[in-house]
Amino acid sequence: TLNQPSLKKTTSVSSAGESSSSESLMIIEHRKRPCGDGFTVHKYLRGKLLGKGGFAKVYKVTSLDTNKEYAIKIVPKANLVKSRARQKLQTEIKIHRTMKHANICEYKHFFEDKTNCYILLELCHNQSMNEMIKRRKYLTEEETRFFMLQIVDAVSFMHEANVIHRDLKLGNLFLNKHLNIKVGDFGLATRLDTSDEKRKTICGTPNYIAPEVINGDKEKRGHSFEVDTWSMGVICYTMIVGKPPYESTDVKSTYRRILANEYSFPEGKVSCHARELISSMLQTDPKMRPTLDAMRSHPFFSERIPNALPHSCIVSQPIWA
Ligand code: ADP
Repeated sequence: TLNQPSLKKTTSVSSAGESSSSESLMIIEHRKRPCGDGFTVHKYLRGKLLGKGGFAKVYKVTSLDTNKEYAIKIVPKANLVKSRARQKLQTEIKIHRTMKHANICEYKHFFEDKTNCYILLELCHNQSMNEMIKRRKYLTEEETRFFMLQIVDAVSFMHEANVIHRDLKLGNLFLNKHLNIKVGDFGLATRLDTSDEKRKTICGTPNYIAPEVINGDKEKRGHSFEVDTWSMGVICYTMIVGKPPYESTDVKSTYRRILANEYSFPEGKVSCHARELISSMLQTDPKMRPTLDAMRSHPFFSERIPNALPHSCIVSQPIWA
């Protein structure tokens, strides 16, 4: 089992199962004190499947006590046999539970039973930016500014807490009811003891991975906060252009293109300010990339930024009044 203090609070979840029926009752017993014998019982109604990840399935649930809706991430223990997978989940929980910010998907609770681990999360009603870009093909620069500022805010919060997310990508930017960004999936995140410490482990998703992460082993220099800036550069490019800058037919060619910093802007589609900002974030030398404060004060963000986005943005380009 996962022997963390935070994980001892709960003992059992019954009838959660993984049955394909659309709704099922989940009964969750919270142990009041880690070693106590008092229980409070919480009942949730499990609703539709929201998404699948490498290790987990995520369902919508409604608390029968409060009528509030949440997302529940169910990780079968069969997927946690390898210590690396257990480690990933432990780190995810340990870091995520401390990350409370308006643009970070809120961690609520952890439960486990014999078969599964369960992470109760804030519900994000509108899937991720990945699905949004698939439907829309690309976003306007106004929308990109709106989303990028929220991402910068979330990442500033993480970095101030010495946390590097290391897996920022469209699929980990969830959208709530009001189309605000909720950064999720802390499975590859790491917390540094000091802000000048470096990490050596390779992680990230091919299209979004920074060159110093790919090169890590060779140059033994490690990587730090700037890997998130690189991924934000990839995200910003992808929102405006509609496909990632270093995309290729296979992972090896993607890495080769990242290391050679081989990308270009399609003719006539991207404003000067957007190009400038993106190119500054996608610099091979991590030290040359802008700080989050410098990004915020970039002229790209001096242009029109909507206060909120209309719900129609989910499927079609907004028409500004
Ligand atoms: P993994 O760590 O296994 O990759 P994720 O955390 O990325 O799993 O979740 C898998 C999918 O579940 C996501 O791509 C998303 O579609 C959905 N999902 C995850 N968390 C939420 C949430 N809080 N609200 C709504 N949907 C979510």
